[in-house]
Amino acid sequence: MEKVILLNPYFSHTIWGGRKLAEDFGYDEPGDDIGECWGISAHPSGECTVSCGEFEGKRLSELWNDHRELFGNAQGDRFPLLVKIIDAGDDLSIQVHPGDEYAKLHEDGSLGKKECWYVLDCPENAELVIGHNAKNEDELRSMVSGGRWNELIRKVKVRKGEVIQIDPGTVHSITAGICILETQQSSDITYRLYDYDRVRDGKKRELHLDKSLDVITVPAPSPEDHIIGYSDTADNGVTKLIECDKYSISKVRVNGDLSFACDAGFVCATVINGSGRVFDKDVKKGSHMLITAEGAGDIRMSGDMELIISHI
Ligand code: ZN
Repeated sequence: MEKVILLNPYFSHTIWGGRKLAEDFGYDEPGDDIGECWGISAHPSGECTVSCGEFEGKRLSELWNDHRELFGNAQGDRFPLLVKIIDAGDDLSIQVHPGDEYAKLHEDGSLGKKECWYVLDCPENAELVIGHNAKNEDELRSMVSGGRWNELIRKVKVRKGEVIQIDPGTVHSITAGICILETQQSSDITYRLYDYDRVRDGKKRELHLDKSLDVITVPAPSPEDHIIGYSDTADNGVTKLIECDKYSISKVRVNGDLSFACDAGFVCATVINGSGRVFDKDVKKGSHMLITAEGAGDIRMSGDMELIISHI
């Protein structure tokens, strides 16, 4: 069995995208509106294919359906995670995601969306929208219906290297110039709450106020509940960033040779800096891969690089 399977990303072209993703990560993708790179995805809205080896050209969902042994025979009717890099060339709309229960009922059996951000790059004094200031349901509804957005949304300062957990029900948005690596449940369900009243091609983008109000958590948890602190001390090793019911995420620094074990059926990995090798495969900044059940128990890396890895 192959120990590592490299993937071809899917690129999402968006009105707020740019060229930066392609340039910074060395992707050969045309267009000056690249907003998202879905590096590890089996979601029907944007799926990855295998770039080389025994399974070259196969879609990730095919591997999941036909070769479950690669994933340590993990359970589930779909590949559970989605890893993407988002480069905000402009402020994104303010949005909220449903949890599993609501999505299953109202969104045709979709998964809910819990997500976690690792801030790859951001301007100095950058701010994100995380949470809101309404004290109760009535206040939330009156702020939304009255368009009192500046009072409602809560802005939080953010720095490069920070880890931010966005639970379903959290009002959130990334702002212009911020680049994140997002690890999330494999879901594409987003409710748009506010789009800064922007007009494009003569109209505003559709909002989903009723569904947003259905799922927003009131009152919002404090910012400290979202921004996860960690001490990035490992010079050649693994630092756990977050562990929750949907995923476990770590940062890996490779400086020379490194071997470590993951207690998981399979591992998702993205190189965020530098270059090196994972088992026998050459990788560099922007490479996305699966480490299979055969490799997860004794992962071998070498070179000078940083990765974000995740598993269920
Ligand atoms: Zn989101």
